[in-house]
Amino acid sequence: MKRLEERILADGEVLAGGILKVGKFLNQQMDPQLFYEMAQEWKRLYADAGVNKILTIEASGIGIAAIAGLVFECPVVFAKKSKSKNVSGEVYTTQVFSFTHGTTNTVLVSRAYLQPGDRVLILDDFLANGAALEGLMDLVRQSGAELVGAGIAIEKTFQPGGERIRASGVRVESLARIAEMGDDGSIRFA
Ligand code: 5GP
Repeated sequence: MKRLEERILADGEVLAGGILKVGKFLNQQMDPQLFYEMAQEWKRLYADAGVNKILTIEASGIGIAAIAGLVFECPVVFAKKSKSKNVSGEVYTTQVFSFTHGTTNTVLVSRAYLQPGDRVLILDDFLANGAALEGLMDLVRQSGAELVGAGIAIEKTFQPGGERIRASGVRVESLARIAEMGDDGSIRFA
């Protein structure tokens, strides 16, 4: 998506360790107009998929997903990062290793919000090694809902998550695909 790529070049900042900082428009400060255009693009891509629920993970997926919910006209659910490891029967849980924080979180979603019969689109801000997306996929699988596919704002194709998840048969639509980030701050799209 051209406008997202242009924004990444204008306002993204390459940090050490293969991290792209996008706090100016995607993470801490959010650009709702851009999110709306991203949502319209995912809607175009998944037009005939019968999506009736959007699933994301806190915190940075929530803004994107909420605006996508307006466009898809469906509810938006986010997986919570649990502070306790207690497993209650009311929730589905899974483990997710955080690429940016280097920690493993138990994430959970209430059973009431994901059910058989749901057709779920997973949305997230980044796809890197794939842990966040695979965790969300696991929650969908546990619930018996149907996974329609995933929509990602920025995929870093030099990390292996996207290739592995597509190879497993899941549809993944990324709006910007970064093939390389240089030490000099340069960004090359795939
Ligand atoms: P993965 O689980 O695919 O390794 O990483 C995806 C998650 O880590 C996303 O939910 C995102 O929050 C975070 N993440 C991964 N790479 C980046 C990055 O380059 N920049 C930012 N801001 N977040 C990232």
